Amino acid sequence: MPRRNIRTFTVLPQLPTRLHALQKIAYNLWWCWHLEAVALFRRIDIDLFDKLNHSPIKLLGAVPQERFEELAKDSGFLDNMDRVEEMLDRYMKAKTWWQSHYAENNDIQIAYFSAEFGIHESVPVYSGGLGILAGDHLKSASDLGVPLCGVSLMYREGYFRQYLNIDGWQQELYPENDFFNLPLILETKPDGSPILISVPLPGREVFVKIWRIQVGRIPLYLLDCNIPQNRPEDRAITSQLYGGDQHTRIQQEIVLGIGGIRALKALGKSPSICHMNEGHSAFSALERIRVYIEDFNMDFAVASEAVKAGTCFTTHTPVPAGNDAFPEGMMDHYFGEYIHSLRIDRNTFLNLGREKPNNGGEPFSMTVLAIRISNTSNGVSQLHGKVSRKMWNSIWPELSEVEIPITSITNGVHTQTWIAPQIEHLYNRYLGRDWTEQPTNFEIWTKIEKIPDGELWRAHEHRRERLVTLARNRLKAQLVKRGSPPSEVAAAEEVLDPEALTIGFARRFATYKRGTLVFRYIERLAKILNDPKRPVQLIFSGKAHPKDNAGKDFIAQVVQFARRPELRGRVVFLEDYDMNIARHLIQGVDVWLNNPRRPLEASGTSGMKVCCNGGLNLSILDGWWDEGYAGDNGWAIGAGEEYTDTNYQDEVEGRAIYELIERDIVPLFYNRGADGLPRGWIHRMKRSILTNVPVFNTNRMVSEYAKVCYLPSQERHTKLIADNFSKAKELANWKVYTSARWPQIRFENVDVTTGDHIRVGESLNVQVKVHLGEISPQEVEVQLYHGPTDNAGEISQPHTVTLTTDGNVQNGSLQYTGKVPCKASGYYGYCLRVVPRNELLFNAFEPNLITWA
Ligand SMILES: *Cc1c(COP(=O)(O)O)cnc(C)c1O
Repeated sequence: MPRRNIRTFTVLPQLPTRLHALQKIAYNLWWCWHLEAVALFRRIDIDLFDKLNHSPIKLLGAVPQERFEELAKDSGFLDNMDRVEEMLDRYMKAKTWWQSHYAENNDIQIAYFSAEFGIHESVPVYSGGLGILAGDHLKSASDLGVPLCGVSLMYREGYFRQYLNIDGWQQELYPENDFFNLPLILETKPDGSPILISVPLPGREVFVKIWRIQVGRIPLYLLDCNIPQNRPEDRAITSQLYGGDQHTRIQQEIVLGIGGIRALKALGKSPSICHMNEGHSAFSALERIRVYIEDFNMDFAVASEAVKAGTCFTTHTPVPAGNDAFPEGMMDHYFGEYIHSLRIDRNTFLNLGREKPNNGGEPFSMTVLAIRISNTSNGVSQLHGKVSRKMWNSIWPELSEVEIPITSITNGVHTQTWIAPQIEHLYNRYLGRDWTEQPTNFEIWTKIEKIPDGELWRAHEHRRERLVTLARNRLKAQLVKRGSPPSEVAAAEEVLDPEALTIGFARRFATYKRGTLVFRYIERLAKILNDPKRPVQLIFSGKAHPKDNAGKDFIAQVVQFARRPELRGRVVFLEDYDMNIARHLIQGVDVWLNNPRRPLEASGTSGMKVCCNGGLNLSILDGWWDEGYAGDNGWAIGAGEEYTDTNYQDEVEGRAIYELIERDIVPLFYNRGADGLPRGWIHRMKRSILTNVPVFNTNRMVSEYAKVCYLPSQERHTKLIADNFSKAKELANWKVYTSARWPQIRFENVDVTTGDHIRVGESLNVQVKVHLGEISPQEVEVQLYHGPTDNAGEISQPHTVTLTTDGNVQNGSLQYTGKVPCKASGYYGYCLRVVPRNELLFNAFEPNLITWA
C-alpha cells in the first residue's frame, strides 16, 4: 500500500449547552469515587455505560443525539446533574486537611512517580496492585489536599487483555487505547501546540508529549513517545506496560525518570520532593542532580546531597529477582554520554546501583540506586519492612538488620473507591457523612454497631447476587467467544448460587500466590462445595504475566478443575481481571481467600477492599494481614510460619484451609436464627469493618507519608539548598574529610567494671579509651550497643547508650564512660562502636562510617 498522507480530525459529541457540565464532570476522575456522580452517568444509559466499561467520555460520544435532547428537558436529570456539578465545585474549593495543618509549608511540591496508575477501569494504564495503590494514593492526596502531582507513562496499549483458549491457556490481546476516548488533556503551549520535551537515548533525542488526567485536585502527567518526530522504534517505547525486553524497560525508565523531571520543568514545576513508587523511576534523581550541576555549576557530591534530601522511596518487591537490574554494558550504552553531565566517572556512577561498591560485573540495580539516593526508604507493611531490611543489609554491611534505615508504611485502599453503594448508604445513615472525611477516626467507626444486622446482611446479600449475575454473564460471553456448544452456554446461566457461601480468589497469577492450593485434595473440596444444605462456591480471576508460563499453567489448572464433574457449577474462572471485576468480587464475596507463601506478599490490598464491604478474610499471615488479623475479624491460615520445603508447606497449609472452612466458616455462615440471619457471621463482619477499615485506608497511609517522609525531607532539603546550597556543600565536604580520616579511629582499651554476673538493679559500667586521630570529638558518638542475646549469640533487639567524655584529648585519644542499668534478669550482650555525628545527616548510618570495638 502506498504511504498516504493521512490527516486526522476528531469528531466531538454535540452536547446541548444545558448539559455541558457532563463534560466537565467526565474529565475529572473525581466522579469515579463519588457515587452520586457514578449514578448520574448510569442514569444516561445504564446498559451502554456497562458496555463501555464505565467510561463517561465514551458514553458521551456514543449516546444518540435524541437522548441528549431528552435529558436536556428532564428536570429530574438536570437537578441531579447540577447537584453533582456543585459537589465537584465544592470539593475543589474546600479547605483541606493539609491546609488546616500545614498551611505554612507552601514551598513543598511533591511529585509521585509510578510506572502505572490504576484509577478506574476506563483508563487502562495499570496492571495490578502497584498501579491500584498509586491510583488510591492520588485519590487520598486529593481528599487530603496534599500538594502532589503524579507522573507516569501514557501507554498506547496499556496492559494486555486476557482471554483463555479452549484448554484454559491464557492468550493476550493488546488493543490500542483510543486516546480521544480517554479523559486526557494535552499539555500545550499558549499557541496550542503540544509542549514537547526530549530525553537522551544513544545517538539521538527522543521527543515526548505530555498528557494530563485530573484526579480530583491532583494532576497526573503521562508521558507519550508516540509522536511523528520520533523514529518508529522510539514511538513504540510507550506502547506497552511491562512489555518488551530489557531495552524497552530501561528506555521506559529513562523516559519516566529523566523525562518526568523535564516534563515537570516544562510545565513550570520544580518539585522539592520526588516520591518514587518502586525503583522504576529512580533515574529521576540523576536528572535532578544533573539540573543542579548545570544550573548552579556545582559538583556531583553537593548536588546529590541536595537531591537526596528531597527524595523518598517505597520498595514493593520482597524477592531479589523481582527488582530491576541492568547489566553494566547496558548502562554504558545508555548512560555513557549522560554521565559526563553528572561530572562523575564510570565507576562512581556504577557504584550507585551496586550493592557492593567497586564490585565490577554486578548489575546496576534500580532499587539500590533508589535506596542510595533517597532520604527515606520504606517497605509497604511491617513484615515487608523487616524483609526489606534483611534483603538490603548488604548496603550497610556493618549494621545489624534491625538498624537498616528502611522503615515501613503499611498500604491502604481508598475506601470510597472500593465501597459498594448499598454499604455506603448504610455508613452514611448510621455513621454520618464524617466517615468520608475522617476515614481514620476510630470513634466514628464504632457506630458500626448501630447498623441493624438485617440491613447489613441484606445489603451484603444484594452485592453477592450482583456478583453471581456478573459471573454468569461473563461466563456466557467467554463461552460464546470460545465457540462452545449452546448447551454449555446455556448451562452458564445456572452456575453458582446467589445464596451460597461465596469464596473469592483473584489476583495476579504469580506462582507464589498459589492459585491452585485449594484444589490439593479434590475429594475433600468437592465434599465441602456440594453439601446440599450448606453449599460453598469459589470464584477465581487473575492474569499471569505474559512471560510467566508457570503462572499460566496455574490458570489452566484452575480452569480444568472447574470443568470436573464433581466441581462443575461451583467453581468458575472469570477472564480478564480488571478493576471492574475486582470491584464486583470484593463487594460480593463472603470470604476472600489469600494463600501466598509468606513472606512474599509485600502487602496485598484486595483483602482490605473486602473489609470495606463487610467481607471476611481467610488468609496466610503475610503482608498486611499479619497486622490486620485480630482473632475475631476473619481467619488466619497457620500462625505465620515460614517453610523451606514448599511441598510440605502446601500440605500443611492446604489442610489448614479445609479445616477452617469445614469447622469454622461453613457452620458460622449457615447458622441462621429464626429470622434467617447468621448473627455470628454478621458480628464478625462488623468486627472486620471496625478493626480494619479505619487503619488500612490510603488517607491514613498518605498522611503517614506526609509526616514520616515528605515533611521531614522537605525540611532537610530546604535547609541544604538555602544560601546557595551552603549546607549541602558543608555536608559533602564533611563526608569527604571524615571518610578519609575515619580509618584512624580505633578502640584502645575497654574496661568493664563488672564480671560475668550482674544482679537486677545494678548497672553495667563501661570505661573506654578511643583514639579519634584527626577527627574531632564533636563529629562522633561513642555508643554502647546492648540488649538481650538470642541463641545464636546475636543481639536481637539492640538499644544504644551514648557514652560521655570529659573532652580531654591525650595523643588523639579520649576517655568515654557510660552505664546501663540492668532492669530484668536474662542473658545479655553488648558491644561498643563509634558512629559519625553531624546535624545535617538524616541518619547517622547513611555515610556507612562505623567502627566497632
Ligand atoms: C486491588 C487490586 C489488585 C491488588 O491485589 P493484591 O493481590 O491484593 O495485591 C490487583 N488487581 C486489581 C484489578 C485490583 O483491583
